[in-house]
Amino acid sequence: MSDQLQILNFINGQYAEPLSNEWLDNVNPADGQISGKIANSNSADVQAACAAASTAFDVWSNTTLEQRSSILMKIGNLIEVNLEALSVAESEDSGKPFARARDLEIPRAASNFRFFASAISQFASESHESIGLNAINFTLRQPLGIVGCISPWNLPLYLFTWKIAPALAAGNCVIAKPSELTPRTAGMLGEICNSAGLPVGVLNIVQGTGSSAGQAMLEHPEIKAISFTGGTATGEHVARVVAPQFKKLSLELGGKNPNIIFADCNYQRALATTVQSSFANQGQICLCGSRIFVEAPIYEQFKTDLVARTKELNVGHPSLPESTIGAMVSRPHYEKVLSYMGVAIDEGASILCGGGPATVPGYEGGFYIQPTVIEVRTNQCRMNQEEIFGPIVTLMPFDTEAELIELANDVRYGLSATIWTRDLDRTMRLSKKIDCGVIWVNTWLMRDLRTPFGGMKNSGVGREGGLEALRFFTEPKNICVAFEA
Ligand code: NAD
Repeated sequence: MSDQLQILNFINGQYAEPLSNEWLDNVNPADGQISGKIANSNSADVQAACAAASTAFDVWSNTTLEQRSSILMKIGNLIEVNLEALSVAESEDSGKPFARARDLEIPRAASNFRFFASAISQFASESHESIGLNAINFTLRQPLGIVGCISPWNLPLYLFTWKIAPALAAGNCVIAKPSELTPRTAGMLGEICNSAGLPVGVLNIVQGTGSSAGQAMLEHPEIKAISFTGGTATGEHVARVVAPQFKKLSLELGGKNPNIIFADCNYQRALATTVQSSFANQGQICLCGSRIFVEAPIYEQFKTDLVARTKELNVGHPSLPESTIGAMVSRPHYEKVLSYMGVAIDEGASILCGGGPATVPGYEGGFYIQPTVIEVRTNQCRMNQEEIFGPIVTLMPFDTEAELIELANDVRYGLSATIWTRDLDRTMRLSKKIDCGVIWVNTWLMRDLRTPFGGMKNSGVGREGGLEALRFFTEPKNICVAFEA
């Protein structure tokens, strides 16, 4: 093992070894080799981060809008300047194809900062005149103080900054923890913030596991809000710990999203996008359309074509431009995803293509899985009810719109749905009846950062994005002023 790579905490503007004196291995999923070590912080590290944030809050919450916005804009620009290095780190940490990190995800992290640098100036407070009573109400939107941001490994810097940028824009100081599986780009963000002139202590990054660093954040009394993205089971735990402390809480959790294809759709677009929505990032995007429902008249044709397109995908080392599918993030996750091949067989489903691990010559220790399409007989099976979070999709036909609505909603999740049809009336009927926070029609993963983002049911509580995020990270205070007529 090379001990060259040390991923440290970033507290009060400085990189620091963990006070816990504990370390974790940083593993490269493309070859299974240990590439460095990661600080595994505990409550002492979180306390140090909170002390720094507490001192910095007075300064940051009193910067002018123009200063704050200018620093956030610089952070976004510096992410772009460091695009290549950040993309290499992201790909090596997560196993995702380098091109995906460079072309989509790291640029989105830059956009997150630029977007909130500008959105904060549109964040108007409301006022209401109490007519006839000689009084006027106005609402101050004050920062909460110190807030905690906890993010997952699947879109590391993208989701980390999606929380941090609005929290900072609203005037808060932040304690942020990336996933222990993908700590590198979060670590690099500290230096970028220093170069952009962010005052020390405003953003503090603690590295480490959820049970140690994350739990300490949930429990710290000075952290006033938790913005969490991760699995539903973890979200439930977070909610239990945070509720008695009355911290503000936002939860963005798992999904089991329907991808619905009607016979009148633009067939080629639906097919090409379905390959993307099934297998992008090895199927490790909470928004992937993992349950594909196809209207009966085109079912057999779509099945044949989807399988053919899936077989054309190229599983390979993430650094190579020809690799469309990289490695799964970790050995435990790889094993969990592979175990669903056995579940499919036990449930009497048919594996149409894929169905097992993939071997990448020269990288036999890597965590590669073949993209897999499985035909299921019913929606009431584990394959269609549990979030697998890997390159496995299920396929089944439907006959009527009423049946489809039942199938789409017959799951405990409610994050997103995609509908492929040219019928506007049907689009509107389904959009109202499908219980998901995000619905795409004739597209997938198209994001406008001004729109509310989040899930219903077990997919989460609250919304991120645009003004919703700025509302979450501020406390509304109403002031009623009476005047003499
Ligand atoms: P996870 O729940 O295991 O971990 C998420 C984060 O929570 C990590 O940083 C982890 O260290 C931390 N954590 C774990 N235990 C904790 C605890 N006790 N206290 C505080 N923090 C703790 O999820 P994951 O495996 O990293 O990510 C995959 C999941 O995230 C999938 O379910 C996916 O659907 C979901 N996800 C949801 C969205 C969304 O926007 N809804 C986006 C991306 C991923």
